[in-house]
Amino acid sequence: MNLKNEETIGTLHPVDVYSKDKTNLLESFYSAIGENKKPVKAQGEVIGYWSKELGEEFIKSINSNKMFSNPVKKLMINAINRKGVIPVYTHNLWILDITENFIKIFTQIVGLSGGSIMGFYDGTQIVLMTSNLRDLSGDISSKIVYGILTHEFQHRFAGEVSGFYNDPKVKDLLKKWFTNFIDMFFEQDITPNDKAKLLKFFTNIKSESNRALLRGSIEKRFEELYNMYEGVTDKNSQYYYKLERLLEYVYNSYYGEMHDYDFYRLCQKVYRSIGIIPDTWIFQEFLVPSEVICVCASNEPNIGNNLLGKYLNRIRYKNNPNIDAKPAGV
Ligand SMILES: [Zn+2]
Repeated sequence: MNLKNEETIGTLHPVDVYSKDKTNLLESFYSAIGENKKPVKAQGEVIGYWSKELGEEFIKSINSNKMFSNPVKKLMINAINRKGVIPVYTHNLWILDITENFIKIFTQIVGLSGGSIMGFYDGTQIVLMTSNLRDLSGDISSKIVYGILTHEFQHRFAGEVSGFYNDPKVKDLLKKWFTNFIDMFFEQDITPNDKAKLLKFFTNIKSESNRALLRGSIEKRFEELYNMYEGVTDKNSQYYYKLERLLEYVYNSYYGEMHDYDFYRLCQKVYRSIGIIPDTWIFQEFLVPSEVICVCASNEPNIGNNLLGKYLNRIRYKNNPNIDAKPAGV
């Protein structure tokens, strides 16, 4: 089992995205004619456009979004003005194509009748792609916009904000989620020593700092977990068997193969045990600890607004954003 095959996580296949019918994309921009649209690229290929006008509409939609607290709205608008988030027009077809080919790369994907929206953090910036061009507050609900932005920003905080890992709420959520997971999954089949080792590995949110996401850290994390499995001396033990099942679940999920529904349901129960109803396929948590914070913050506005309020102004905004996005592994 090795994540390093030709389908390396974090690699976008530009040909697959680019080959879609561009006339559809252009048609969908009809209402945006006259705007000064700038292309947004992923590894050299255009995946959508951004414009000053879309940025302004995006800000309006944040202002009317009741999920954000008032202080967070101000900080979020500041973040948008400083290109901390880049809203991008794209087309449903492209979003669908990306979901088929790159589900392991993009963090949030929501297909809707009137449009689609997705966001990703590439280790440098957050890109929010929408096909619902002129009305971010219409079919794409406030709840979804809140959820995606809040989700992506937790990844960004974990990667960029020193001290995020030390936040009492962050520590508490990680500890609770992974302790409950270990108890519910391994039950009596784990020694206190192995439990401590696993807990230390799972809650190591520091592994995401310094934008390590882009430097193969997900593969490294997987290897670390795999080495723990290989290091188990009793190959007939339930612990060994269960670790193998966990590894297979994570590995398969990264390649879009989701068949261990019993395991997934157990992970759902873990979230419910800390009062969260998750809305994602639960697997990144085991390699990217901030995913737990993302899911909690995006599904529970009290947690989300608290963390956004504390950390939105601690991001290193750049004057010249890199519009050539590089989707990373989460
Ligand atoms: Zn995520």
